[in-house]
Amino acid sequence: AAATAKPHFVLVPLPAHGHLIPMVDLARLLASRGARASLVTTPLNARRLRDGGVDKELLLEIVDLAFSPADYGLPPDCQNADKIADNTQILPFFLALHKLAPPFEAYLRALVPRPSCIIADWFNSWTAGVASSLGIPRLFFHGPSCFFSLCDLNAAAHGLHERVAAAADGDRQTHVVPGMPVSVKVSKGRVPGFLTSPGCKELREDAMAAMRASDGVVVNTFLDLEEEFVAGYEAALGKPVWTLGPFFLHDRDTDDTASRGGDKPGVSESAITAWLDEQAPDSVVYVSFGSVARKLPRQLFEIGHGLEGSGKPFVWVVKESELASPEALVWLEALEARTAGRGLVVRGWAPQLAVLSHRAVGGFVTHCGWNSLLESIAHGVPVVTWPHFADQFLNEQLAVDVLGVGLRIGVTAPVMILDDDAPVPVLREGIARAVSLLMDGGEERRRKAKAYGAKARRAMEKGGDSYEKLRQLIATFTYGTQAINMGTL
Ligand code: UDP
Repeated sequence: AAATAKPHFVLVPLPAHGHLIPMVDLARLLASRGARASLVTTPLNARRLRDGGVDKELLLEIVDLAFSPADYGLPPDCQNADKIADNTQILPFFLALHKLAPPFEAYLRALVPRPSCIIADWFNSWTAGVASSLGIPRLFFHGPSCFFSLCDLNAAAHGLHERVAAAADGDRQTHVVPGMPVSVKVSKGRVPGFLTSPGCKELREDAMAAMRASDGVVVNTFLDLEEEFVAGYEAALGKPVWTLGPFFLHDRDTDDTASRGGDKPGVSESAITAWLDEQAPDSVVYVSFGSVARKLPRQLFEIGHGLEGSGKPFVWVVKESELASPEALVWLEALEARTAGRGLVVRGWAPQLAVLSHRAVGGFVTHCGWNSLLESIAHGVPVVTWPHFADQFLNEQLAVDVLGVGLRIGVTAPVMILDDDAPVPVLREGIARAVSLLMDGGEERRRKAKAYGAKARRAMEKGGDSYEKLRQLIATFTYGTQAINMGTL
């Protein structure tokens, strides 16, 4: 009976690094607390996770579902957002994902007993019908902060998305988000919420309906970081908000590069750690823009010269796809030669957690993806904020105006991949200035970041808020609760 009573969580991530990584960490957490955790994804992502050894840990199972991107005119390996080549592929990618409903249902039907709970990404609205037809409770996982999600719900309730979209505004004209406990301003291209462009209307409606039909939401944050926004979000959503993070603060014995990884590791965890070991505490600035944003050589040059000019030790992550031109490569090699010993350029995927948790790292120039921002704060590292798109501009407001751990680089317009003829958003002087200010000035930012870091660790320890909430969550979604020995959860 004990075996059948083990609570079983089936996790369905959106296949994009910023969504997949926290779900893998959540699965590890569930498994480490005595639950069974299965992660359902497409073959390419399942292969990457298995190659990284994720399935060898604890009770984590990886289930791959047949996936046919070709039905939507996409190449067969377009199974992760990092394979999306241009804007025209975004919508077909989401539509192809919706085709996973039948194989997902078949997988669930074959499970005896049925799982106790599904946790599906907000974008995976197709899981809602499957869950309800089988009578399985379903939580949704929402990638951003509660601050952002509350902004989105308040904006939606007041028709702000449509109003801003229809206005003949520029990037600098701002609108106040109603109902927020602090002043939050948005502008065209920087409205809160995903899938808000007109072409995505149906997908957004599906996601909002799936959200309303859910049994609550799991968020990668912790109560002490954004308490008033957690409460506001819970009230606006009318469902439990499970703040269980930071998910990544768990013991791990796998290499960070491989187990959370993209296709091409740029450096091993041990090599980068050895390099950082030689640097003074809090002296190194880490520069990386997440898994999606891509820069043209023109912008790379400015960043490189800016870092060189700052005079600070740095670790800079450059994507393979950004180095496609021979000109960029030659330029980079010359920069590496000039900054040898002081600068480390990672070409490809970096072990970001290993970097941010190293004592030598004292600042992060970030695009403000929620994972990156949380990873930085949880390790006590203040940030220079350079948002690109999606929730990142609001995360910047949270970091700078609310939490006081960030310094703006000063961009106002969204950009995912810069147009060929557009001006470069940030010049070398701006980068050098921001880096110097972050590393030399701003003791208050560093102090605040370190204080939040301590609170993050506390939240995940026994007796801490996130730790105890996970216990409650497992107990809530367990069949035959009386058969479970609560002491082991
Ligand atoms: N990441 C990493 N190495 C890289 C690039 C990204 O480990 O070279 C991880 C990073 O630690 C974070 C995730 O990928 O967990 C990126 O998520 P985020 O929300 O910051 O940004 P997105 O990629 O969604 O824009």
